[in-house]
Amino acid sequence: MAETTTTPAVLILLGPPGAGKGTQARMLEERFGLIQLSTGDLLRAAVAEGTPAGLAAKSVMEAGGLVSDEIVLAILKDRMERPDVKAGVILDGFPRTAGQAEALDALLTAGGQKVSAAISLEVDDEAMIDRVAGRFTCATCGEGYHDTHKQTAREGVCDKCGGTEFKRRADDNAETARERLKAYHAQTAPLIAHYRKMGVLETVDAMGSIDDIASALGTIVSGASA
Ligand code: ADP
Ligand code: ZN
Repeated sequence: MAETTTTPAVLILLGPPGAGKGTQARMLEERFGLIQLSTGDLLRAAVAEGTPAGLAAKSVMEAGGLVSDEIVLAILKDRMERPDVKAGVILDGFPRTAGQAEALDALLTAGGQKVSAAISLEVDDEAMIDRVAGRFTCATCGEGYHDTHKQTAREGVCDKCGGTEFKRRADDNAETARERLKAYHAQTAPLIAHYRKMGVLETVDAMGSIDDIASALGTIVSGASA
């Protein structure tokens, strides 16, 4: 039988904590029907469920370090086996080390796929600490807010859904954010060269407005999945 389906897109969002990967991934999901795959979210779910992987990851995450490749790869592979990813994926927060990038290349090659585009969100370090340290989300709908840059219109009430409960990640404080930024520069930033060599690197200035960044990403993704 002839192969009629086009290969699903595999997009990678690279960038330090606070660069806006999650926000942009959710917008790309809606616009292009892709599935956001955040290893941070998958790990937080494992921590909340108290699985063995979650128990091992908890203290590392709270200190701002990187969880071992072994745990992250096991969690990611598991998620990649679910049928919904067939539409194409946006990898948010993965790969984060050279070992993870190589494992991803091997996994995709085995499935007859490849990375469509690796998009580096370029931002300024100090601004990232400030963004991360002040952020919180609505516990009901997940809308993101910030203590100074994006407050709710009515104090304590979510603009989107009217929810009154909010949550803050345990690692979203200035001290841990600095550690996460260090881990990014030491272990993740070198992946930019890896994807440049593969000819799939795109860079986006991510210091602008959410809408401007979304439109720059939209242009790249339209080209990459064509
Ligand atoms: P951010 O990008 O804002 O730092 P994430 O939600 O992506 O946040 O990740 C939170 C934490 O989860 C990281 O600081 C790290 O401890 C762990 N983590 C997430 N993804 C990975 C990964 N691919 N490899 C190792 N650790 C990871
Ligand atoms: Zn809400």
